[in-house]
Order: sequence, then C-alpha cells, then structure tokens
Amino acid sequence: MIPMVDLKRQYQNLKADIDAAIKNVLENGHFILGPNVAELEKEIAAYHGVPHAVGVASGTDALLLSLRACGIGAGDEVITTPFTFIATADVISLLHATPVFVDIVTDTFNIDPGKIEEKITKKTKAIIPVHLFGHPADMDPICALAAKYNIRVIEDCAQAFGATYKGKKVGARGECGCFSFFPSKNLAGYGDGGMIITGNEEMAKNLRLLRNHGSAVKYHHSALGYNSRLDEIQAAIIRVKMKKIEEFNDRRRVNADIYRRLIKRNDIALPLELPSCRHVYHQFTIRSKNRASIMTALQNENVSSAVYYPVPLHRQEVFTSGNIPAENLTNSEICAEEVLSLPMFPELENEEIEQVSNVINHAP
Ligand SMILES: *Cc1c(COP(=O)(O)O)cnc(C)c1O
Repeated sequence: MIPMVDLKRQYQNLKADIDAAIKNVLENGHFILGPNVAELEKEIAAYHGVPHAVGVASGTDALLLSLRACGIGAGDEVITTPFTFIATADVISLLHATPVFVDIVTDTFNIDPGKIEEKITKKTKAIIPVHLFGHPADMDPICALAAKYNIRVIEDCAQAFGATYKGKKVGARGECGCFSFFPSKNLAGYGDGGMIITGNEEMAKNLRLLRNHGSAVKYHHSALGYNSRLDEIQAAIIRVKMKKIEEFNDRRRVNADIYRRLIKRNDIALPLELPSCRHVYHQFTIRSKNRASIMTALQNENVSSAVYYPVPLHRQEVFTSGNIPAENLTNSEICAEEVLSLPMFPELENEEIEQVSNVINHAP
C-alpha cells in the first residue's frame, strides 16, 4: 500500500527531538501563549523577512482573523478562486461578506489575474489568492490591481510554506500571509494550528487582540475577539520541524522530478512550475481526461490517489443559495473533472514513485 501521505515516517525520523520538545512543554507547565509560540513566531517572521508573525488556532482562523483585521464585514465583496479548499471562502461568508469567484488558469490551477478586474466593484475590499498545491499565484498583476483599486491582498499560503515567487517567499507580499499547520501540510504539527505573517504593526496588534478575546490586558476587552491561539505543544513540535523545512521541501521537489521523468503518457498533463517560481509540491497533481481509468488502475495496485477538488466552490450547496454568479468559471470546472493528486511527501521512497509511475503508464 502506497499512501498519499505517511506521517508516521517523519515522526520516526524526528522522534527523539519531538518527544523531548513535548516533554519540555509538559514539564514547564506553560500551555497557552507560552515561550514556544513566541519563539516560533519570531522564527517564522525571520524566515519570511517580515517583522510580525501571529500564531493562531488553524489556517482557517488565520484567514478569518486577517479578514476581520482588514475590517471586512457585511456588504463587502472578496475576490477569490473557486478551485480551492472550502476554508478559503467560507470565512468570507462567515463574516457576512460575499465571495466573488474568479476563474483559474489550468496550468498552475491558480486564480487568473486577467479575469480579476472585471469582477471588481465599489464593494470589493480584498483579494485572496491561493498558492494552490504549493505553486505561487501570479502576484505581480494581482498586487498591481489591488494597488490601483485600493484593495487588500490576503494570501492563502496554507499549501505553500517556503514556495517562492520571483525569488521571494510567498506570504510576505500581501497585507497578511496565512499559513496552516494541519498535520499533512508541508510544515505541520500533530493537530490544528496556523500563523499569520504581516509587515504592518497595527495589523499584528489587531490580530493579537482578535486571537485572544479582544484582550491586550487581562480581563479588559477592547474588541469582539475569538479564542484562537496557537497551542504551545503544537508550537514546540512545529519548531522541531521548522529546522528541517528546506530539506522537506527539497525532497518533495526531488520526488516531483522523479515523477516527471518516469510518467510517460501523452494524455496526462504534468504539473507546471513557472520559471519565476519555486513549487513546493504540497500536492503533485496531474490532469487527464482518462482520470477514472487511471484511478481504478492505481486502486487495483494498492496505490492511493485523490481528487483535490471534485466540486468547485461556486457549485457548493453552502454558496449556491446565496446566488453566487457562476458564469465564466469553465477552467475550474474542467480541472475539477480532470485533476488527480498522487502520493507526495518528503519520506516517499524512489521505488514507490517508480511503482506509482509504472501503474499509471500501464493503466488503460
Ligand atoms: C488546509 C487549508 C486551509 C485551512 O487550514 P486549516 O488549518 O485546516 O484550518 C485553508 N486553505 C487551504 C488552501 C488549505 O489547503
């Protein structure tokens, strides 16, 4: 059996350090907003070359708190992609704002900057580009439009920790960069967690208020906030893995190269890496009109594969009742029909990649 991701392998490799980190927190007895959260925030801010990072309870909360801190609420519109995980857009609706979906380009699966301007109205307050599967969205034209119309950019970097666009790490460009430490993400904990990076000190202050019941001074509350703190034990675990993040992402890239060399079918489109970008392969996602037969062949040989994502967000029941316009979203619909993600994680063995590729090459 070859799984999509095997988290046990990484734990076995890092067991001594991770067990020690957890034990250290338990012995210290500082469990909420303790020293590991503060240190991880510093480490992640430094990694991205930004002054501020704020740990929160999940990637979803990173997006929600960022939107709140940008003042987004009822009557506002937020532009994003329909080809992403639900969390990118449901946070917009949870704040009583409206998600406005703009189609993707099929080669990187990311929002098409050429189709954004026609969707901008007086109500548009933010754009959420998603760096899907670990490949950066095309940030230059997105940020140019945002500047022209005075719109905030909030980057969904949940799948792209360490990815670069024109030599710069994603997340530092927008008003806020939002990361997830969900266990299967490139940098991850063993539970939920998230982080927001920002260059704006006011924003950072506001985010720190929002994650902690709107309170800067204990029992004094200046805003309606949340209980959304990054857990100290998760922070301690993530700090161990943070030391290895370049190694992990490099290994994903090597694995992707092996897939590229071995998969040989002209009815399959391999994932593109634009020359201006460093893909970190959160997923290795191929496209084929013959997806169903490839999936069946993999299944028969005990190889996992997965469809991310089968239903574009403009077709989700939760949104359709809000009459979200669905025209001109054909690339998202095509990708939902054709994408297939293959096993991908740093500890995946060369022989396993060979086996997966073999099954694909011989599938009917
Ligand atoms: C994982 C993910 C999220 C949400 O992160 P959680 O930590 O699971 O809340 C948001 N957006 C994208 C694109 C994701 O992949």
